[in-house]
Amino acid sequence: MNEMTPITKERKQTFTGHQALILEEKLIFEIGSADKSGVDLEPVPEVTPRLGDCMAPSKPDLPGLSEPEAMRHFVRLSQKNHSIDAGLYPLGSCTMKHNPRLNEKMARLPGFSDIHPLQPVSTVQGALALMDELAHWLKTLTNMPAVALSPKAGAHGELCGMMAIRAAIEARGELETRRRVLVPESAHGTNPATAALLGFKVDEIPANADGRVDLAAFKEKLGDDVAAIMLTNPNTCGLFERDIIEIADALHEVGGYFYCDGANFNAIVGRVRPGDLGIDAMHINLHKTFSTPHGGGGPGSGPTVLSDRLAAFAPLPYVVAGEDGFDLIELEAQSADQPFGRMVAFHGQMGMFVRALSYMKSHGSDGLRQVAEDAVLNANYILASLQDVMTASFAGPCMHEALFDDGFLKGTGIDTLDFAKAMIDEGYHPMTMYFPLVVHGAMLIEPTETESRDTLDLFIATLRDLVRSANAGETERFTNAPELAPRRRLDETRAARHPILRWQTAEEAAQAAE
Ligand SMILES: *Cc1c(COP(=O)(O)O)cnc(C)c1O
Repeated sequence: MNEMTPITKERKQTFTGHQALILEEKLIFEIGSADKSGVDLEPVPEVTPRLGDCMAPSKPDLPGLSEPEAMRHFVRLSQKNHSIDAGLYPLGSCTMKHNPRLNEKMARLPGFSDIHPLQPVSTVQGALALMDELAHWLKTLTNMPAVALSPKAGAHGELCGMMAIRAAIEARGELETRRRVLVPESAHGTNPATAALLGFKVDEIPANADGRVDLAAFKEKLGDDVAAIMLTNPNTCGLFERDIIEIADALHEVGGYFYCDGANFNAIVGRVRPGDLGIDAMHINLHKTFSTPHGGGGPGSGPTVLSDRLAAFAPLPYVVAGEDGFDLIELEAQSADQPFGRMVAFHGQMGMFVRALSYMKSHGSDGLRQVAEDAVLNANYILASLQDVMTASFAGPCMHEALFDDGFLKGTGIDTLDFAKAMIDEGYHPMTMYFPLVVHGAMLIEPTETESRDTLDLFIATLRDLVRSANAGETERFTNAPELAPRRRLDETRAARHPILRWQTAEEAAQAAE
């Protein structure tokens, strides 16, 4: 599209292996040598060790690097991560939105970042006040009476909610008989995994032609052995489950609990309060709805809100406001309720709490509502701008993400994976592929509300050009992609099945290969 010297696809071999300023980086063990050190240490005085047999038989064989070598190694590695700070990251279901720098500034305040969970509570009153205020916002936004802050990710929050449900069932004396958990076909994989981990039997509910829960099929599954339903709303097809209140009522009638996977709360925050829909437990991914996206395996946080029916079973620890300030309830004996135990050693992901509350307070309640509205608007802009050339899986407007399938690639010899790899050559991190499983060759695009109109327009134009190219028989643009990335297609299956988790010397690697 631009008037530029075309880049030759045959990659020039350089002496160093580097490509312009994209530098190859070896493992730290391959660049260091054990006899070097980045610091000057005083010689150790002669002592008679008292460790006896516990003495290490040899030196630890750590790589030795000078300070600049160590720094460059880690800076170069960090530059190999694609991140939301580097470009559009339209990964459906993951909500990779801009993380305001204000969040980071607040999280680095020494009163939040330099404290220890074992400090006396009188010395951390500000941190406890922040946790209490965050809890207040979460309860208000969801209209739920209780929240467990400690779960450290969405999946961990699911486990927390389902453990509260199990405790409530046990308190009713029905643990032996309420064994079944209903999980819609379109559920996030963590839902059935959580139910199975807790010993429940997973029973799948099919989706209807609209991509939503089949209400009739759901009602047929009801019975007094149903412990709970685990339903995602908006669901993983990016659609709002319109029958949610009817589902909640029917489930409660047979004595079951309603777990809602609220990872996608970003699509409805400020517009709908889950407590009004009959939900009993729901986790909120702070790292999706309230910025702080989890790129590069960064920390997550999955607070779980609980209804009146489950609040008494909330896990330890939790913050209470007393006359002399805030206190922590850390032991069952201190609690007036029946906590089911604890999820983590301490209190959860403090840094995430600070970032999420900064985000909430800087947006205000009207700003949070606009977050949801703009996220939905942007996704619908994508859907409307591409559905004449790509195959939208379901009719009608979507929520915060637009779902396409591989129908438009039929007969081209190109599949979803090839299409995604060609996006890498164009400088885009691919959308989520092959998920949700309910459609063939899924492509799930979540633009989030933080992308500008210009950014979205260039993205749309790029995808339209790729579709044109696919239809014109330029198959190699896809099947050979990525051609411009430092690595081509990796054998991901082999990497998952035979992971090499420890660095090996050349001899060890040769031996392992035999
Ligand atoms: C992201 C997500 C999860 C899991 O959250 P993690 O923090 O990755 O554990 C669960 N359900 C849905 C619908 C999600 O989008």
